[in-house]
Amino acid sequence: MRTIGLLGGMSWESSAIYYRLINEEVRARLGGLHSASCVLYSVDFAEIEELQRAQDWHAAGVRLAQAAKALHQAGAEFVVLCTNTMHKVADQVAGAVDIPLLHLGDTTAAAVLARGVRRVGLLGTAFTMEQEFYRDRLAGHGLEVIVPGAADRELVHRVIYDELCQGVVREESRAGYREVMARLAAAGAEGIILGCTEIEMLVGDGDSELPLFPTTRLHAVAAVAEALR
Ligand code: GLU
Repeated sequence: MRTIGLLGGMSWESSAIYYRLINEEVRARLGGLHSASCVLYSVDFAEIEELQRAQDWHAAGVRLAQAAKALHQAGAEFVVLCTNTMHKVADQVAGAVDIPLLHLGDTTAAAVLARGVRRVGLLGTAFTMEQEFYRDRLAGHGLEVIVPGAADRELVHRVIYDELCQGVVREESRAGYREVMARLAAAGAEGIILGCTEIEMLVGDGDSELPLFPTTRLHAVAAVAEALR
């Protein structure tokens, strides 16, 4: 089994989910007392969030590149960047180390395509929904990406930072996300990417008529497949 390098803390709420899912997947595949060989570098998310708000992506990339190097030195054989948003600087992170980065956009697109979905709704932070880095990565795999309208994007973004990243799960926010997903379905989406690693804390199958693609779960399963390849 190869050693997985988890670059997390963005937020730690979802990194904890990655850790559990990765170990559950190893147990499901290997059984017995098997667990994942992995290293976790968890940043202080407040520092990263400040750089996001200032749109200083280069400085954020420098910080994450430094963390990736530390993971490599600690024995990681590939990097799993545990956030959709910070894939904005995936190239900067990957370029800093001689080990590969398992890109979340690629693992997500593969799962969407495998389900026969071409036209997909995307929920995530405003950065993920509005900027090109993530949508283009998905489009590069042949997907047509639909994002919610402005007011819905504002709600989805606010719930991520003000609630989920702080460990708060509210019923009224779940209802709000259900409505946003229903509007994406009405707009022609055939499936919905939960494109922020905390959204799985709030909604899951049963909250939408459409197939949902939970990026944390998909990334964790892909990481184990990579480790055992
Ligand atoms: N974890 C979230 C994501 O997947 C948001 C936090 C962040 O901005 O990194 O995008």
